[in-house]
Amino acid sequence: MQKTAANPPAVEVANVTKIYRVGHTDYPALRGVSFKIEKGELASIVGPSGSGKSTILNLIGALDRPTAGNVFVDGINLRKLNEDRLALLRNRKIGFVYQSFNLIQRLTSVENVEMPLISRGTPERIRRVKAANMLKMVGLGNKLNKKPTELSGGEQQRVAIARALIAEPSIVIGDEPTGNLDSKTTMEILNLVVQMNKNKGITFVLVTHNMEVAEMTHRIVSIRDGLVEKEQILHRIDSFTNEMNAVAPQVPAEPQTRKSGA
Ligand code: ADP
Ligand code: MG
Repeated sequence: MQKTAANPPAVEVANVTKIYRVGHTDYPALRGVSFKIEKGELASIVGPSGSGKSTILNLIGALDRPTAGNVFVDGINLRKLNEDRLALLRNRKIGFVYQSFNLIQRLTSVENVEMPLISRGTPERIRRVKAANMLKMVGLGNKLNKKPTELSGGEQQRVAIARALIAEPSIVIGDEPTGNLDSKTTMEILNLVVQMNKNKGITFVLVTHNMEVAEMTHRIVSIRDGLVEKEQILHRIDSFTNEMNAVAPQVPAEPQTRKSGA
């Protein structure tokens, strides 16, 4: 991998355009989009249907390439990577969560969650333990051997989140991850995301139609007609860090002076 800046943002989208060509017709989906998402942020992308949100996520997730402009993930310019390197980056750095959960129906929760570790060559016994632990962390310790059809929508999305997190990605991207869930389950899933973001420092980029969801994030990037319409910072990331420090167990301070005598 090439040289990276000392502390690059988690994601940088710089002057990105994307034109889909269908037959002889060009569809400009993105017309010059720029924004950054800092490491440890929980960010949302909002905008009307067809505005280019999924296109942006596909570019950040290294699933597609821009027509022009550059996308950086952890300071790495994705344009510089060949297909093999892109696949490696997807596997190592990015977790994906989708509206329709995208679980494999014939596999149990544990088997679904361990999938990303198979391509890494993690031995089965270790995969199983890690997947079970991850499922416990998302509150599904009692559903390890259930298949997706035996789970509610919210539970299926928890499995998908566990699968996205198992390979310890630096960024998780979610395309309408709560789009198929009722409002109560939506908030449960969002609380889980907030918790993972705070406790593990994982950067999340969520596309959502739900303003209640967007308002729980640090940064809202609003997209319209393939352009950034506005960007709002709702919560500074450092204020969250401070909150976290406030509740984190205090590390004993270095002794100031050595006690003399006894
Ligand atoms: P959103 O996720 O905001 O609904 P998309 O990023 O899916 O929007 O799509 C943005 C625009 O690009 C839309 O006009 C859509 O029809 C078009 N588009 C998306 N994917 C393709 C594709 N594979 N081929 C042609 N046009 C596409
Ligand atoms: Mg979309």
